[in-house]
Amino acid sequence: MEKIYMIPVNDAYIETCGCPVCRLHDKAENNYLEYYLGPSLMEPDTRIITNKTGFCPVHMGKLNKAVTNRLGLGLVMHTHLIDFNAELNPKLKAAIPAKAGLLKGRNPDYKQKLNSVADLIDKRVSTCPICDNLNDAMRHYVEVICWMFSHDKDFKEKFVKAEFHCLPHTSLLLRQAAKLSQNEASDFVEALYKNNSDTFDSLISDVEYFTLKFDYRNTDKPWGTSKNSIQRSMRFLSSDGRDFDEQQSKKS
Ligand SMILES: [Zn+2]
Ligand SMILES: [Zn+2]
Repeated sequence: MEKIYMIPVNDAYIETCGCPVCRLHDKAENNYLEYYLGPSLMEPDTRIITNKTGFCPVHMGKLNKAVTNRLGLGLVMHTHLIDFNAELNPKLKAAIPAKAGLLKGRNPDYKQKLNSVADLIDKRVSTCPICDNLNDAMRHYVEVICWMFSHDKDFKEKFVKAEFHCLPHTSLLLRQAAKLSQNEASDFVEALYKNNSDTFDSLISDVEYFTLKFDYRNTDKPWGTSKNSIQRSMRFLSSDGRDFDEQQSKKS
């Protein structure tokens, strides 16, 4: 098993708050964002890739927020636009349907041409080297998590004590568990199930309490653990919790 993935996996499970796989994801994502805004963007090999791919909307937004290297972002954007323009616009021009006149007749071929230019655009705007690297890293991480669960007692204990695994990452872990032997998968999925059903139970009860607090008869009752239960539920339901600001609940 690859050691370089074990250390970050262990670190992510030392903290007991939130989803450890989200922590792995966020850390890796930040590393890739820094990488693509760092010295790598002056390397011809990297530029050949980013000229072709650009970045997906999510990662363009994150690069835009990370104001560390505006010039670098500008340089990458410039050569990507040149590359995109050079590939797209000749094809787009060639796809302009000729007007059907009396002499020329109709040519249904234009429909296919338009769709294939649209396919080209859709494919190019959705490719992203940060997504590719991140998916690859996450594949390694879940492999290591499953392996460590059955080979490292201390890790198994930490896994069981995780506050929760968010649902998208529960799904990722289940897909990995499907590759294990039946006995290994049995223990792992049982732990995952326990973690998952406990989280559902406590969130359901905390969110219910949150709503009951709006009844005037309960105004004087303490908030207990329900105050940020909406944001905790959002973090459980999705794997990117950065916008789930707990200050929102304090405004209520
Ligand atoms: Zn997660
Ligand atoms: Zn991306």
